[in-house]
Amino acid sequence: MTGYEARAVRAEGRTLAQAIRAQLKAAVADVVARGEKPPGLAVVLVGEDPASVVYVGQKVRACAEVGFASREVRLPATTDTGAVLAVLDQLNADPHVHGILVQMPLPPGIDRSAVLEAIDPRKDADGLHPVNLGRLLLNQPGPRPCTPRGIMALLEHYGVPVAGRRAVVVGRSHLVGLPVALMLTAAHATVTVCHSRTPDIERVAREADILVVAAGRAGLVTADWVKPGAAVVDVGITRTETGLKGDVDQDAVASVAGWLTPVPGGVGPMTIAMLLQNTWEAYQRAAG
Ligand code: NAD
Repeated sequence: MTGYEARAVRAEGRTLAQAIRAQLKAAVADVVARGEKPPGLAVVLVGEDPASVVYVGQKVRACAEVGFASREVRLPATTDTGAVLAVLDQLNADPHVHGILVQMPLPPGIDRSAVLEAIDPRKDADGLHPVNLGRLLLNQPGPRPCTPRGIMALLEHYGVPVAGRRAVVVGRSHLVGLPVALMLTAAHATVTVCHSRTPDIERVAREADILVVAAGRAGLVTADWVKPGAAVVDVGITRTETGLKGDVDQDAVASVAGWLTPVPGGVGPMTIAMLLQNTWEAYQRAAG
């Protein structure tokens, strides 16, 4: 097979994310024109991890673009858990803040669980509070983790069938692997979760109609892992000297898969769009 036509459809997350942002921008302009305050998202960054600084910058710019009032709270790496919780208390009580996000990873010594649990679940823009993860498990409404929600939105937008299909998720983190497995299950896929201790993982992956890879290992998934025509979602982001790399060997897999999310420009922009969407929905709920 030669030529682009023979290769997987490229799932342009960037384009879909732009469309979602344009819709949100129009909706925000509408409420502001009615004299109301815009939605507010507070982004808390503890320390100066270079990747986190980049991610926070992207999120704050995205907020500004759609007309949200964003607030960036920067705390030094030497901050203790109590001080982070005190900031969260203030943000929880502030009626102009509808969404709160604490950028992960936190510096060593800060209690991640205590921080996540201190966010008011109604303002939990990342959907990672135990109450909201419980709602996800029970298939009840609530904010969903942004990356898994973005993956589901991409599959839906491109008409990738999910109900009744075999899905394999590589990775079992609370951030991506487990929530996306639950969301695929809720959408009636038959789901297998693989991880670093799964034997014969390539064989399991090859059974997938939908293969979601969130392992954080650049180029892990080669063409041998992929059933011809499968939909492949590459969540991984590894910074290398030659740019961002996904967990999928994109070139090789594009000639086997039927549909593939690129890195960059696939899942990443959708994550930010879903953060904005979660904040917008929290704002609407707060407004009753
Ligand atoms: P994590 O390190 O918390 O979890 C990785 C998971 O992959 C673990 O469950 C582990 O068991 C599994 N794993 C590791 N090596 C493996 C291997 N060789 N074979 C099979 N399984 C293996 O990571 P995470 O937070 O879930 O993130 C995963 C990747 O996704 C990272 O590259 C991260 O940067 C990226 N990410 C991207 C976005 C985005 O918006 N695109 C958002 C979140 C995370």
